[in-house]
Amino acid sequence: MEKAISEIRQLLGDDGISTDDEDLRSHGYSEWSSINIDRLPTAVAFPNSTTDVATIAEICYKYKVPMIPYSGGSSVEGHFSASFGGVSVDFMNMNNIVEFHPEDMDIVVQPSVSWMDMNDKIKDSGLFFPVDPGPPAKIGGMIATNCSGTNAVRYGTMKDWVVNLTVVLADGRILKTRKRPRKSSAGYNLNGLITGSEGTLGFVTEATLKLAHIPEETGVAVTTFPTMRDAAKAATQVIHQGIPVGAVELLDDVQMDVINQMGGTGRQWKPLPTLFFKFSGTKAGVNDNIEGVRQIVYQNRGGDFEIEQDKAKQGALWSARKEALWSMMCLRKSGNEVWSTDVAVPLSKVPDLVEVSKDDLNRLGLFGSMLGHIGDGNFHETVLFDGEKEHEMVTECVHAMVYRALEMDGTCTGEHGVGLGKKTFLEEEVGKESLQVMRTIKAALDPRWIMNPGKILDP
Ligand SMILES: Cc1cc2nc3c(=O)[nH]c(=O)nc-3n(C[C@H](O)[C@H](O)[C@H](O)COP(=O)(O)OP(=O)(O)OC[C@H]3O[C@@H](n4cnc5c(N)ncnc54)[C@H](O)[C@@H]3O)c2cc1C
Repeated sequence: MEKAISEIRQLLGDDGISTDDEDLRSHGYSEWSSINIDRLPTAVAFPNSTTDVATIAEICYKYKVPMIPYSGGSSVEGHFSASFGGVSVDFMNMNNIVEFHPEDMDIVVQPSVSWMDMNDKIKDSGLFFPVDPGPPAKIGGMIATNCSGTNAVRYGTMKDWVVNLTVVLADGRILKTRKRPRKSSAGYNLNGLITGSEGTLGFVTEATLKLAHIPEETGVAVTTFPTMRDAAKAATQVIHQGIPVGAVELLDDVQMDVINQMGGTGRQWKPLPTLFFKFSGTKAGVNDNIEGVRQIVYQNRGGDFEIEQDKAKQGALWSARKEALWSMMCLRKSGNEVWSTDVAVPLSKVPDLVEVSKDDLNRLGLFGSMLGHIGDGNFHETVLFDGEKEHEMVTECVHAMVYRALEMDGTCTGEHGVGLGKKTFLEEEVGKESLQVMRTIKAALDPRWIMNPGKILDP
C-alpha cells in the first residue's frame, strides 16, 4: 500500500493524493447511505486524465491494492465505502465538457461533470440531458449506478442515453466501447455491461451521451387522494392509457408533512397521499394530456386537481421533490439515522406493494415516508430512526419490503443499485446461474478482484 501511494504521488504530485483524515472520511462514509462500515480508504487520488487513471490502475494492479471510483458521492447503498481499504479515485479534476455536438444531439464529457451544471451550460442550444438523479450526482457515478429519476417514465434510464464510453480496466488497459452513432448492433454491448457495474469492472473516464430537445411547453399538476392505494391506482391507469406524462411522482402524507415543516416551497400542502404530474410537449399536447389525467384522477377519488403554470413555482415544486431525502435528514435529532431504500415491481403490483409497505411502517411504529417514481413501478421508503434502538426494526421493515417486491416479480432496487446494502438479495432476484455468470465476467475483467471489491457480489 505504501509503495503504491508513493508511486501515485510521484505521478500526480503532492496535491494529487491525500491521506488526510477528513478526505478519507468523506470518501468512505456518507450520512445518506443506508449502510456504513468502520473501514475507510487508505488514500484518495485525484487524477487529471485517462492516462493518469490508467497509470494509477497499473500501480494498484502491481501491488494488489483495491481501487474505488468516486464521482459525486451521492449514492445511497454504501457504494463507495472501502470494504478492504485501498485507494479512492476521485474524478473531481476531470470535470470538463470535452466536445458538444448540437447538430448530432450528443455531448462528450469527463466523469465528474454534474448533470445539473451540464444542462445549465447547454440550455441555449435547446437541448438537455433528461436523466435526473440526486442533485450532487456526476456523470461517472450516474453511469456506474445506471441511475434514473423523475423523468425516467418519459425518457428511460441512464443506459438509454449512453452512446460510448472510455473505460480503464483494473490492470490499466484503456478501451473505447464504440464510435459515435446513436445506435449500433456491432458486437457485444459493452456500454450495457459497464453501465450499472458500480465501479466493479473498470473506471469510466469519458462518456458520449445523447441529448433530447427541451420541450416547447411544460405543466405541473398536483392532486391529493384519500389513500395510497387510490393514488397508486390513478398513476398506473395513466400509464396504461398511454398518456405520455413527463413524470408522475407519489408522495405520502408523511413526506408532504415533512415538506411543510421545511417550508422551502413557499406554501403549505395538504398532508395526504399526493401525486405530482409533469407534462411536456407541444402546447396542444400538454393541454390534451392534462385533460386525460384529470379524468383518471377524478375516477380514483382524487381531490382538487391543481395545475401550476408559473415556471418558477414549477421549479420550486420539483426541487422540493428532489430534495425530499434531505428534508427528512433535516428532522434528525442526535442519535438519529436515515435509511433510504428503493424497490420496483411490475405496474399492476404497485397498489398492493405500496399499501402493504405503508401498513408495515405504521404497524412497527416507525417514522418513515414513502415516495416514488410510481409510473415506473419504482418507489422509495425513507425511515428516520434511533440508530441504537430501532436499527433492527428498520432492517426488518426494509427487508420485508424487498422480499415482497421479489415475490411480485420485482427487483430489490429500481435505480439506486446494489452496493453493499442490497448484496444479500441479488441471488434471490437473479438466480444462482446468473450470479455465477456475473462472477465469471468480473473475474475476466478484474482477475485480482481489486475494482471496488465487496460490492454487488463476492468471489
Ligand atoms: C437527495 C438525493 C436524491 C436522489 N435521487 C435519486 C433518483 O431520483 N434516482 C436515482 O437513480 N438515484 C438517486 N439518488 C442516488 C444517487 O444520486 C445516484 O445513485 C447517482 O447516480 C450517483 O452518482 P454519483 O456521481 O454521486 O456517484 P458516487 O456516489 O460517487 O458513486 C456511485 C458508484 O459509482 C461508482 N463510480 C463513481 N464514479 C465512477 C466512474 N467514473 N467510473 C466507474 N465507477 C464509478 C462508485 O464506485 C460507486 O460504486 C439520490 C441521492 C440523493 C442524495
